Formats: sequence, C-alpha cells, structure tokens
Amino acid sequence: MNDFEFRQTVLDPISSSFCAAKWYNATIWLGSGQTTSCHHPPAHGVSQAEVTARPSALHNTPQKKDDRKKMLAGERPAGCEYCWKIEDMGRDAVSDRVYKSKIYPIKDLHAATAIPYTEDVNLKTLEIAFDRTCQFACSYCNPAFSSTWVNDIKKHGPYTGLVSDGRNHFTHTHDGAQLYTFNQANPYVDAFFKWWETDLHATLQELRITGGEPLMSGYTWKLIEWFKENQGKSVTKLAINSNLGFPLAKVKDFIDAIRPLPHVELYTSMEAVGAQAEYIRDGLTYQEWFENVCTLLDSNTVKAVHVMCTINALCLDSFTDLLHQLMEFKQIYGRGRVNFSVNILRFPSFQSPLVLSRELRHRYRVRLQDWMYRHRNNPWLHEHEINQVQRLIDYLEVVETPHSEAFDSPKLLNDFKQFYTQYDQRRGKDFGATFPGLKEWYDGIQIQQQ
Ligand code: SF4
Repeated sequence: MNDFEFRQTVLDPISSSFCAAKWYNATIWLGSGQTTSCHHPPAHGVSQAEVTARPSALHNTPQKKDDRKKMLAGERPAGCEYCWKIEDMGRDAVSDRVYKSKIYPIKDLHAATAIPYTEDVNLKTLEIAFDRTCQFACSYCNPAFSSTWVNDIKKHGPYTGLVSDGRNHFTHTHDGAQLYTFNQANPYVDAFFKWWETDLHATLQELRITGGEPLMSGYTWKLIEWFKENQGKSVTKLAINSNLGFPLAKVKDFIDAIRPLPHVELYTSMEAVGAQAEYIRDGLTYQEWFENVCTLLDSNTVKAVHVMCTINALCLDSFTDLLHQLMEFKQIYGRGRVNFSVNILRFPSFQSPLVLSRELRHRYRVRLQDWMYRHRNNPWLHEHEINQVQRLIDYLEVVETPHSEAFDSPKLLNDFKQFYTQYDQRRGKDFGATFPGLKEWYDGIQIQQQ
C-alpha cells in the first residue's frame, strides 16, 4: 500500500485528523521537563508533581489527552499545523501523520482509538533529550538546544532588530531549557529511568536519544551501558541522533561501546555540502562528518545511518549535491543502510526557504525537478524519500507563508538580513563568499530599522 492509499484507507476512516504519534510517540526534554508528540508541534510543560507520582505522565499530559480527543472527533489540534498545511496543498499530499502512523501495525492504530482519551498510553517510540550540551551552534538552532548557542549569546549579547521571531529564539540564553546539570537531582530524569526500568524497556520499540549532542551527555553512555549489561532483557532498538562532529578517536570509542549491541541506528543532520553546510551548521567540518559516516558504516556496528535534511533558505543551493552524495553512499553501503528524510523548516520563519525570491525558488525547484526526473524510478530510493523530495518541490511552488502566524514577506526578509549580518560578525563568516548564487539577491535587501 503506498503512502497516499494508507492515508485514504487506514487513517481517514478513523478520522480525517487521526495521527498515531499522539498516542504512541513522544519527544521529551528531560532537562526542562517538556514534551511534544513528534518534533513539529510546540513543546509544552510536564508537571513535576505528576511525574514524581506517575512516571508515565512524562508522555500522557493533559494537553496530549485533549489533542487525542480532538483527533478522534476529526478536529485538527492547532499544534499539528505542519501537517495540516501540507495536506491543504491538495495534490494527494502526504503529511507526516502518514509517516508517523505507518510505522505501527494497523491493529495498534485501531487499539489506540479504543483507549478512553483520559487514560495513559504506553509509548512505542520515544525520542529523549537529557540536556542541551552541544559543540555546534547551527543557524536554525538556538540556545534552548545548544550550549554553544548559549555561549554565543553570553559573549555577544542578544541578536538585535529581529521582529518576526515571536519565540525569541536569539535574544536570551533560554535558561529554562536546562534546569539541572549532570549529576544534579532532576525529577524528570529520575522519572524516566524509573519508567524505563519498570515498563518502557519491555514495551518500547525504539528509543532515540537526541540533544544537544547526545554523545556529550553522560546519560547517553549510561544507557548504552544498561543495554550492554542487560542484553536480551529489552526488545527496544536504540537510536542516537549525533552531529558526528568528533575526531576519529571519539567515534571509535562509540563504535567500541555499541559493538555488542544487536540493533543501533544513527541519525545525523545534513542538508548541504562543503562550505555551505559549514556555514549553516556552525561548528561542522564537512569532511570530518563525511569520514565519520563512512567509518560508522564500515564498522558494521550500526544497522543504518539516517540523514535528516532540514530544508532552510540556504541549503537549497547545494541540496541536490548532497542528494547525489547520499545516492553514492547507498550504492556503496546498500539501499537500507543509508536513508534520508526531508523536513521543511518553519521556525525561525525568516530562515524558511519561502523567504527566497520567486526567481530563486523557481531556480531551485527546477533543479529539484530535474533531479526527480532522473531518479523517480531509481531502485536505490525508498518511497518516502521520493515522496518527500516531491513534497518539497510542491511546497516551493504552492506555499507562500511558512506558518499561519508568520510575518509578511518584507519583515521576514528584513530579519533574514539582520540575522545573517550579525551571524557573520559573530562567527567570522562571509555570506556573499559562501553563497555566490544568493549574493545579488542578498545584497539587494536593504535593512529597515523596525
Ligand atoms: S504534527 Fe503531524 S505527525 Fe506530528 S503529531 Fe501532529 S499530526 Fe502527527
């Protein structure tokens, strides 16, 4: 059954807004006590008192229960706007609620609908972040997820002159995102390990550790040790999100640590190549990332490497070069061992690809269409990879605003120039030299003081 058929014949008969992620999947930030269903809806707080009494409250918050009630009634929870925007494009568009539901057996989807919305649900897939320690400070990230971003704000002060960033990503150090340091008593971490020991290790299909950079968190290594010492006790597959921005010796330490484990998958972010990738993902050395991906795959310790592409305004200039590289990886290591996903950035909205001029969007869309024309029937590609590239092509043609609360185009453009002017000064970078294809357009943006 293809993705669209799955939506039509499995999801929509349950309800036109049903998404299994609301029941079976969660992202939980233990450093701040926040959660969401998948990575698209905004995070919301978890009650400290509730998780102390009932660790499963880490996932089963009153807000999620209310969203489940809405989905069962065919209403659209506002936080899932990412999916509604894709589906409203028409053209048989397939949103992430299909991908996030299709990973579970169909009988489990029906079982979810039979659970009273007031009840707690056991997770099947979980993404968890222990803390925000990270050696990168990517342009589309912010201090809530990166300690290097915190240092940037502490050293240089807040970014100034931005008016469209309603979430104030770049104006303060987001201390609420890291309420506890490692080894300091953290009720959310305690609740997680309690839930893990009692229930989760037996029911969870996949545990994915994110960050910050998980390989810099002691809790990640603690969990790897748990898996090594308790082999056969848990059915959970371990997955780790890593920027792979490490010297070879650290990657080898990781390989040695996971070698006894039967099923580890590695997720890593990349959406451009070379100097452009290094500009977007500040802290990255592209060649080091490339070699670390090869080392991991050569070691045969990871089942697969998944490359997560976050499509922003700057990556489209070399995104097809990255796709070319990923196709080469697939041919060397196998179709299933190298996979990619294409996610379209919405926040901060001034970094969305929709901030680009119509001419630039057209140029990149044509480039992607050309790539698609050559690869649509390529057997090395998975269906979701073809569909997600096609979704991006449609998005560049049809969608005009990054999200419903986004500011109008002149304000986004102004913020784009404001941000990257300051980013260049703080990080010792040069926008025009790095993106010659965007230079004329960029130079033409006149900053207006708002
Ligand atoms: S944003 Fe989409 S995929 Fe995520 S929980 Fe909502 S409907 Fe599901």
